[in-house]
Amino acid sequence: MRALRMNMLRAAGLALLVAHGTVVSADGGSEARAPGGVLFIGDGLDDQWLSIARNYLAGSDGRLYMDGLQVRSAAHLQMMEMERPTTPAFTPDSASSATSMATGHVTALGRVAVDAEGASHLETLVQAAAANGLRTGVVTNTRLSDATPAAFLAHVPDRRCETPDAMARFCPEWPLDGPQGGSIAEQIAGSPVDVLIGGGYRQFSAASPGRPGKAQTVREIAARKGFVVVNSLAAFDALPGGRRAIALLASDDLPPRWTGEPNRSAQPVPDMDAYHALKTDRCVDNPKFEGTPTLAEMTRSALERLSGPEGYFLMVESGLIDKESHRRRTCGAIGEIKQLDEAVEVAQRFAKNHGNTLLVVTSDHGQAAQLVAYPSYMIEYVEHFLRDSRPDDGALSPPGRLSLLETREGGRLAVNYGTNRAPLAEHTGGAVPVLMNEHGTGRVGALMFQKEIHRLVIEHLQLAVEKE
Ligand SMILES: [Zn+2]
Repeated sequence: MRALRMNMLRAAGLALLVAHGTVVSADGGSEARAPGGVLFIGDGLDDQWLSIARNYLAGSDGRLYMDGLQVRSAAHLQMMEMERPTTPAFTPDSASSATSMATGHVTALGRVAVDAEGASHLETLVQAAAANGLRTGVVTNTRLSDATPAAFLAHVPDRRCETPDAMARFCPEWPLDGPQGGSIAEQIAGSPVDVLIGGGYRQFSAASPGRPGKAQTVREIAARKGFVVVNSLAAFDALPGGRRAIALLASDDLPPRWTGEPNRSAQPVPDMDAYHALKTDRCVDNPKFEGTPTLAEMTRSALERLSGPEGYFLMVESGLIDKESHRRRTCGAIGEIKQLDEAVEVAQRFAKNHGNTLLVVTSDHGQAAQLVAYPSYMIEYVEHFLRDSRPDDGALSPPGRLSLLETREGGRLAVNYGTNRAPLAEHTGGAVPVLMNEHGTGRVGALMFQKEIHRLVIEHLQLAVEKE
């Protein structure tokens, strides 16, 4: 495969030699390092969340670090219904949208790097890069078997098949053996990736039953396949270079970095008295985060281990924006967007020093949160002009749940979650932002399809991919 890749480069008329991490042109001039690609996925990050976070973190006249990247486009989201895999759906889950980015194919809701029918596997960016001789990594602050990281590492027809004991219930038809067999955690343990940093020692401690002569836990399978498995970032950083390594930093998902003060979710607003009496919250450090590495630290550790003469691909997920947004915890989600922004800065500074690294920052789907007026212009209008015919207070107050933050400028930033009345708020299906560094210049128009992110990475890394 490596030879194939080099043939492809030669066929492109580039006549390149790769030596000591530098791509040297035929005339002997040093052009750039072996290509690198870093794909950042802010899970649940849409332009509503970006605007909320920008106002809170940088002020109404400020910008986030990622706002200074050179290229901005929008990705239209595509997916199919799970029960009717030829019929489009319009609001993705993380499994289907991460599959679009990881494989370049549109699949059905809940599918992890398999086709919409749930039958055959689709080669992922990690697998393609590894097959072409590049070094590869996945960093996330969720558990590694969660849908987004899973779509780069494993293939199952249902995202709930994270561990061996879930297979019989959710993936009864899926093979239990072979390179694409077994649960997500088992496939991750057998994957060709070099570097994994995330949560999940609970899933990695799961037993792999009924396999005579084989390792008993997922962690043991990983060790047998040549991974060193450690439980801290310090231990990971201390490993000798070149070792394939997994850092499991939490039992499940890592904790979010920020919480609200007071510590609460957005509030229901049953009537206008409650609406006018709504109190502001402010964002503070989450005590449960203490001692947890930041996403920026995890990203730096992965990049240092991956960079080298072979070139590399790294996917970094800020995975808790979505989870905090489901729970309607505004400060929790803003803290995770801050984590993403810091990690993007680490990677872009790294890219500037090492050259030829494409940086893409995007999202898998939108979330429920909306930046809304407080006080509402419309409610005031109705109260003022429709005195005789106005509805009662309960019908006038906002649906969903509302949180009000006091910004550093003394402003009142109102965030409403109006998709449902369930304990967890819902995803939304609007196009999501795509930001790129200078290596993305001229490569996309104002609107792209989410699956095209796969092509951008493949082209930049000059990968030969599996035939359809
Ligand atoms: Zn979600």
